[in-house]
Amino acid sequence: MKKWIALFMTMAIVVLVAACSQGEASPKEQGGKLEIVTTYSIIYDMVKNVGGDHVEVHSLAPIGSDPHNYDPLPADLVLTTDADIIFYNGLNLEEGNAWFNEMIETAGKSVSDDNVVRVSEGVEPMYLSSDEHKNEEDPHAWLDVRNGIQYVENIREALKKNDPTHADDYDKNTERYIAKLLELHEEILDMTQAIPEEKRILVTSEGAFKYFSAAYDFQAAYIWEINSHSEGTPEQLKSIIRIIKDDGVPALFLESSVDPRSMEMVSRETGVPIHGKIFTDSLGEAGSDGDTYIKMIKWNADMIAEGLGK
Ligand SMILES: [Zn+2]
Repeated sequence: MKKWIALFMTMAIVVLVAACSQGEASPKEQGGKLEIVTTYSIIYDMVKNVGGDHVEVHSLAPIGSDPHNYDPLPADLVLTTDADIIFYNGLNLEEGNAWFNEMIETAGKSVSDDNVVRVSEGVEPMYLSSDEHKNEEDPHAWLDVRNGIQYVENIREALKKNDPTHADDYDKNTERYIAKLLELHEEILDMTQAIPEEKRILVTSEGAFKYFSAAYDFQAAYIWEINSHSEGTPEQLKSIIRIIKDDGVPALFLESSVDPRSMEMVSRETGVPIHGKIFTDSLGEAGSDGDTYIKMIKWNADMIAEGLGK
């Protein structure tokens, strides 16, 4: 009888150990998908393009929300804790208001971990210039498509490292995607160069277009420099109204992820219309305009060319 009990105990232990080790194996080791968390929707879309069927992606800041100031939910923390890779922008986007660092620590990880990947690695940073933010990095590098390509290269490296079995697929997906991005960059150059030079002044609520303006030869003007603010101060409003009047700016633009009230007031005060909505810190809702990185950049260029090119 004792022998049976011992055998039963041994079997129970074997089953238990097997169950434990299975629980510890990452999904890809079981032939499943890489579980990935991104801080906002633009990186989400890039990871989907590179990862294809081999990745399950969750964006922390949902579509339409502002990734500068996101307040993570309990479910975000669970997904971040379990994720195989976490992608963030860096350049002061999520760290600007510290929400990302705090969440990574709560999830028992660190930004210096190999699997917490800064997609802007290798991008030449531009800097903020207002007194309040002087010398802080400007996060909006993705609005220059060539930087977007650098993001995609960093994403490819991380996916291959974490899932070498599918390295060939990641390479193929990346090459196909980058070819489209290069084409997009050329297309944006053609469209923007067709706008008379003196009209290439881009007025938005947040000063998110520094990289875009440098790449495609615009002057960027704004109400507030970065979205740690959400409305213009009287000084900022006065200053942008003067620029619009002095330079004869023909059209204003409103970002999809900011409070519209300040820009509406600027439009009323100057009599210059808000030509349309553009995308900076978020994609458009699925199924709507701008619901991928490529579509949002193309939408912006169309909108800008139409508004300023008249
Ligand atoms: Zn922003």
